[in-house]
Amino acid sequence: SRTPLFAGNWKMHKNVAETLEFLEAFLPMAKNVSGEIALCPPFTSLWAAAERLKGSGLKIGAQNMHWEDKGAFTGEISPAMLKEIPCDYVIIGHSERRQHFAETDETVNRKVKSALKYAITPIICVGESLEQREKGQTLSVVLSQVEKALEGVDIHDGNELVFAYEPIWAIGTGKVAMPSDAQEVIGALRKKLSELYSVQVSKNTRILYGGSVKPENIRDLMAEPDIDGALVGGASLDADTFYRIAAYD
Ligand code: 13P
Repeated sequence: SRTPLFAGNWKMHKNVAETLEFLEAFLPMAKNVSGEIALCPPFTSLWAAAERLKGSGLKIGAQNMHWEDKGAFTGEISPAMLKEIPCDYVIIGHSERRQHFAETDETVNRKVKSALKYAITPIICVGESLEQREKGQTLSVVLSQVEKALEGVDIHDGNELVFAYEPIWAIGTGKVAMPSDAQEVIGALRKKLSELYSVQVSKNTRILYGGSVKPENIRDLMAEPDIDGALVGGASLDADTFYRIAAYD
């Protein structure tokens, strides 16, 4: 059975002082959570957060990375640099990066391969726009993103990576997906993994839901058979709120 994962994507929020202040409040509460917790602060707070999290059992992730080891890529961060922190996770292909920073299925694929090479677990984000949903294209869009992200990617048991289904229309809007709608997409994603790889891979791979997750809606989402946790934006910025999501039961 899959260990639930609650990952906080802080986006462009919290400097070092604010990160440490969050952890001061959050660490004592987090001891009561049975699932896994990962925090994904901005790059500039990663080191300080990792130092403070040592021995806590909490995991740490970055929000993006380049696929190359090093080189003339001004403003980019390499997987080797993330490994030094050391990061457990890296979010790849978040819709905000696809929309505003020219991330494509091809760069997502390169980054996934690179993360796996460095044994950093990628959290691969997929999800449809409102227009695509209204046109009935949700499953074809999401499954195509999944196939392209995994092109030429070797997966052995499914524990090497995580998916996050984040419908774009649900991100930061307060409009959470209906649990049954999220389950439909996530169930189809899991089936796709069994076609592309094996039943074992599809059974072991954790698939999260993201988009306006709150303490008030996490329980119904987690009641769905294929939803293994959440990628939380806004509600992960407050220690008490994020704790109530991770400790939903
Ligand atoms: P919100 O939880 O703020 O809707 O953001 C979701 C998200 O984009 C997480 O990656």
